[in-house]
Amino acid sequence: MSTAAALRGFSASTDKNVMKPYMCLDQPEDRVMCEYIWIDGTGEGIRSKCRTLDYDPKKPEDCPIWNYDGSSTYQAEGSNSDMYLHPCAIFKDPFRKGNNKLVLCEVYKYNKMPAETNKRASCVKLMTEAKDSHPWFGIEQEYTLLDFDGYPFGWPKNGYPGPQGPYYCGVGANKVYGRDIVEAHYRACLYAGVKIAGCNAEVMPGQWEFQVGPCEGIDMGDHLWIGRYLLHRVAEDFGVNATLDPKPMEGDWNGAGAHCNYSTLAMRQEGGIKHIESAIEKLSKKHVRHIRAYDPKEGKDNERRLTGLHETSSIHDFSAGVANRGASIRIPRQVAEDGQGYLEDRRPSSNCDPYTVTEVLVETTIIDK
Ligand code: ADP
Ligand code: MN
Ligand code: MN
Ligand code: MN
Repeated sequence: MSTAAALRGFSASTDKNVMKPYMCLDQPEDRVMCEYIWIDGTGEGIRSKCRTLDYDPKKPEDCPIWNYDGSSTYQAEGSNSDMYLHPCAIFKDPFRKGNNKLVLCEVYKYNKMPAETNKRASCVKLMTEAKDSHPWFGIEQEYTLLDFDGYPFGWPKNGYPGPQGPYYCGVGANKVYGRDIVEAHYRACLYAGVKIAGCNAEVMPGQWEFQVGPCEGIDMGDHLWIGRYLLHRVAEDFGVNATLDPKPMEGDWNGAGAHCNYSTLAMRQEGGIKHIESAIEKLSKKHVRHIRAYDPKEGKDNERRLTGLHETSSIHDFSAGVANRGASIRIPRQVAEDGQGYLEDRRPSSNCDPYTVTEVLVETTIIDK
């Protein structure tokens, strides 16, 4: 047990020093470990399992289709429990290194239809339809670190930290908790090839954010899901849990969101602000549709978070404004000044499915159904 874990009384952790000689063993060149990664029946949980390939796959199509037991992932359908894994994106494995890979997969059922929680299938179709508009996204993934007892990491065990104020982008042992995890995760993303854009400590102590983007089309969902996988996997090494619950602590504590920054080619060009405004006009007419798409429980999770307090808008109202962090949609001040750029949709919940969020944004503003 590591000293830190021992101090916290966490017994399931193992000594990483003992593991070192094994990780240093030479790996045969014609043997590549591929960690297949997929989304389970909850639409939030990530699962993975490993297999050896006797060649180095360069693209997802080089990886064989595989399967798993859906009855153990809340996806069983009667006696047909086999689910299929269709590789769709490849990243480098920052834990095993070398030629080893992380292989993101779509899940298909026995009848070759996408599983209910495979939101990527329809997203790809729409992104292909909209490709000439070159939709870009940047998602700000907020999350909370929890100690093994389920209480926020670093919080006093029999009480609460001081009120919010000093923690956002804070520095110092009395202001931020868990920076090692954040730093390790950032490096893991860079190594893997996830397009991580930045990170910061959040308003609630123990809460953090990393941003992924800008990514075009389907890449947004692919990169964010792998970024999440890496977060959970890195936190596991530290004996800490990362939760994407949108309101982990009730009371006067900020919740967690996944603001989605969005632009089309037209918005990014000179005079783009009029395209941003017309997109906002379209979004204003589809508020309910978007709220249903912005968390896995079709709005129920976000109800706890979008209260109109703590830098959020009310779940019931649509609003937009320049530099307004209490609005559904914010136009960043710089964008208003430049007259071009992007908009920020602040409604998506931290546990949203980025495939669904990006799909509905494109549907409303480009496909215009
Ligand atoms: P905030 O000020 O809301 O905290 P952040 O700096 O955390 O914003 O995140 C901004 C995100 O917007 C980043 O992920 C960045 O990649 C993304 N972004 C920047 N420009 C664009 C653009 N033109 N279109 C879409 N996303 C963009
Ligand atoms: Mn941010
Ligand atoms: Mn934030
Ligand atoms: Mn934001």
